[in-house]
Amino acid sequence: MLNVVIFGPPGSGKGTQSEKIAEKYRLIHLSTGDLLREEMKKDTSLGRQVKNYIEKGELVPDEVIIEQLYLKLSEYKDAPGFIFDGFPRTIVQAEKLDKMLEKNNIHINIVLNIEVDEEELVRRMMGRAQDSNRSDDKEDVINNRIDIYKEQTFPLINYYKNQGKIVNIDGMASVDKVFENICYALYAYNSQK
Ligand code: AMP
Repeated sequence: MLNVVIFGPPGSGKGTQSEKIAEKYRLIHLSTGDLLREEMKKDTSLGRQVKNYIEKGELVPDEVIIEQLYLKLSEYKDAPGFIFDGFPRTIVQAEKLDKMLEKNNIHINIVLNIEVDEEELVRRMMGRAQDSNRSDDKEDVINNRIDIYKEQTFPLINYYKNQGKIVNIDGMASVDKVFENICYALYAYNSQK
C-alpha cells in the first residue's frame, strides 16, 4: 500500500499532479478542497457551513474537515493507497491523520513538498481565475490563502521532516517535468524500502 501526501502552497499544482499520480499508481485521490466545493455546489448543510471560510480563503475548522476525511477513509476500506491533496493543513490534522491510519495498520509513506515561488503562485492563480469558477480565485483571497499557508500549513514541513518523509520537488518546471520528478521520487522511495 502506498500513501502519499502532496504538500505545497495554493497554486503549486497539487491537484493536477495528484490526478496524474492517482492514475499512474492507481491510488484514490482524496482532495478536501474538491470535496468541499462539491458540497457547496449541491448546497448541502456542510456546503453552507464551509462556504464563508472558503470564500475568505480561511481554513475550515479542523473538526469539520477531520470528520469528512474519516468518512472518506471508511468509504474506501479496501483501497490500494491514497493520495492526500490539501490535507493535512494543520498540525492537528496531521496528528489525527496519523492516528486514523494507524488504526488500520497503515501510515503515510512519503510527503511530496512542491516548491513554487510566491510570485509564480499568484500569477498562476490569477491566470486560472477566468476558467476555474472558484469563488476563492480573486486577488485579495489569493493573498490571504498564501498568508494562511505560511502561518498554519508551512510548519507541517517540520512535522514530516522529523518523520523523515519529506521529499522536495521543484514545482517551477512544466507539468510534465514536475510529474517526472515525482515519479522519480516515488521510484527512489520504493527501491530503498
Ligand atoms: P484547495 O482546493 O485545497 O485549495 O482548498 C480550497 C479551500 O478549502 C481552502 O482555502 C480552505 O478554505 C478549504 N480547505 C480545503 N482543505 C482544507 C483542510 N484540510 N483544512 C481546512 N480547510 C480546508
